[in-house]
Amino acid sequence: MTAQTLAADVTGISVGSAVHDLRRTFRGAVHAPGDDEYDAQRQALNPALDPRPVVVAEASTAADVRAAVLTAREYDLPLAVQSTGHGTLVPSHGGVLLKTSRMAQVLVDPDRRIARVGPGARWSDVIAAAEVFGLAPLSGDTPSVGVVGYTLGGGLSWLSRTYGFAADSLLRAEIVTAEGRLFRADTHRNPDLFWALRGGSGNFGVVTSLEFRLYPVESVYGGVALFPIDRAADVIGHYAEHADERPDELTLSLVAMRRSPVEGVDGPVLAVRGAYAGDATRARRAMRPLWDVAGTPLVDGFRTMSYAETRTIGGTPPRQFEMFDDLPGTLIETAIDSVIREDSGVNALEIREWGGAMANPTHESPGPVGHREVPFTIKMDASAEGAAPLTAYATGGSYLNFLHDATRTHAAYTEANYPLLRDIKRAYDPDNVFRLNHNIPPSPQHRWVTAS
Ligand SMILES: Cc1cc2nc3c(=O)[nH]c(=O)nc-3n(C[C@H](O)[C@H](O)[C@H](O)COP(=O)(O)OP(=O)(O)OC[C@H]3O[C@@H](n4cnc5c(N)ncnc54)[C@H](O)[C@@H]3O)c2cc1C
Repeated sequence: MTAQTLAADVTGISVGSAVHDLRRTFRGAVHAPGDDEYDAQRQALNPALDPRPVVVAEASTAADVRAAVLTAREYDLPLAVQSTGHGTLVPSHGGVLLKTSRMAQVLVDPDRRIARVGPGARWSDVIAAAEVFGLAPLSGDTPSVGVVGYTLGGGLSWLSRTYGFAADSLLRAEIVTAEGRLFRADTHRNPDLFWALRGGSGNFGVVTSLEFRLYPVESVYGGVALFPIDRAADVIGHYAEHADERPDELTLSLVAMRRSPVEGVDGPVLAVRGAYAGDATRARRAMRPLWDVAGTPLVDGFRTMSYAETRTIGGTPPRQFEMFDDLPGTLIETAIDSVIREDSGVNALEIREWGGAMANPTHESPGPVGHREVPFTIKMDASAEGAAPLTAYATGGSYLNFLHDATRTHAAYTEANYPLLRDIKRAYDPDNVFRLNHNIPPSPQHRWVTAS
């Protein structure tokens, strides 16, 4: 037997032992290659990833999570954590894929306006549980997204200009760290970890429960209106110039689209998407200046809707995403031209104002969600070449939840916060066990951590 075949055999034996150990200690389902459900369970949302883990372990308790972490460590197998697969960027080839989707408990305390969820909960579960009490979470545009992955990466909601990022509303987390220890993190217990979790993504362990604030929002005035594309330059120019005058309750985004989403309306259009956390009269008053510039809509779908119905407002897939300090006329011209030109590689560009409570968090020690003060962002359904002319105007900073290039993770943090995150990573995961993600490598040597 050669050294190579011996090594392959040893690896085969340790994989077999790892699967055997997991089957013995795990309460949830364990799927190995060849098992009936293996193929269905190993997938992420993006089919191109096609992950080939040596085992998929579906946790049903925090003890299962711990068993999966310890088994992966014992057999030196890479470990990936997945709830819904919406944000999975790195395939779990040859590793343990720990799935949390079965731990989807949601509890709402209406008196304290708090929700506590398991790591498999989706926003749709929380929205349904909270709306009975006239409350809403800071969920995003797609309710099937998982609460934990979304919140750990920041969490940008239609309500974020009013109430901040979802991470800003986090009150408590329970987490299994790389050593297999269960930690509680809040402002008093493990405050460094609590700080890092509010934007630092899945780098510090496997979250087994989150507790966060809900808000008294039963309905919003929201929807989508379409305008002729030849109004786009004036509308975007007005939007950029008067951003400071719009109230924090209002979030509008402007989407230049190559194809109209509405049957019977042809050609490129400018869509205005938005939501106002308040009643229709105030909303219309706040939106009027922009409507005066835009003129008569081709279609006006704005109406009073339940918070759950905000899912109908829609979103743009962030194939590219950039941040901007301002929106100069040349950028606006380039943007509109690129959606009109057939060969540009750009299908849609969604310009969105940030600001409000995102830029001015009330928390005395807000988490590391980076670049919160940036006034404008653009999500682009575009190829990298199509996006390049706009990228030339960008700040270079990013937002983790819309950053598909995991090698640029550092760009989602400020220069001050990134080294702190690396220090906290070193304290809780010095061997970088949690690395199949938007990875923050541990700092080379331990320094005193000052975040709290
Ligand atoms: C259609 C769509 C719409 C979106 N809309 C928005 C939006 O409006 N606003 C916004 O901010 N973002 C949005 N996102 C981005 C989304 O928030 C991220 O992709 C997020 O990572 C998804 O989390 P998940 O748990 O659903 O995905 P998963 O793929 O299951 O997890 C993604 C990552 O989160 C981490 N993670 C998940 N669970 C745990 C856990 N228990 N412990 C530790 N780490 C964990 C891991 O690093 C994992 O790789 C959207 C994404 C999609 C695909």
